[in-house]
Amino acid sequence: MPEYKQRLLEFEARKQSDPVTNNPATGRCPVSGKPGKAVQIQTVKALLKVSLRSVRNTEHFFCADKDCPVVYFTADGTQTFRVDELRERVYQKEPDNLEVPVCYCFQHTSGNIRAATADHRQAILADIKAGIKAEQCVCDLRNPQGACCLGNVSKLIRQLEKS
Ligand SMILES: [Zn+2]
Repeated sequence: MPEYKQRLLEFEARKQSDPVTNNPATGRCPVSGKPGKAVQIQTVKALLKVSLRSVRNTEHFFCADKDCPVVYFTADGTQTFRVDELRERVYQKEPDNLEVPVCYCFQHTSGNIRAATADHRQAILADIKAGIKAEQCVCDLRNPQGACCLGNVSKLIRQLEKS
């Protein structure tokens, strides 16, 4: 059994035994145990493909751990939304999948960026910056992390230039 499935089963068991005291509001993913990044509720609502009737009006966090199937979880840890419940593929969960966007607003995929020459990579960065400046991005509604992709794109390019 993959490790995350084991963690998922443990989480479900904990939740059933005592949903409140066993899952204090730490901002840590109840499955991976890693700290999450707070996201706005409209990001969660925009990215989910399941009925929004299940979304509670409470603080949500984004889990960036590659090996964890949870994308969003509530502050109290009692509710999670997993990769298969989102409308988008999540870059952090599939960093090596060439079809997954790194920049969701302007549709630059991991594959585009990897295949590009050094000059073209700088052009992609410039395109994103120009789009941000022209207020053409809606990172909070498009990017599952609920924030601008620029850091992820820059980081990927730096990694590629090194290798
Ligand atoms: Zn997680």
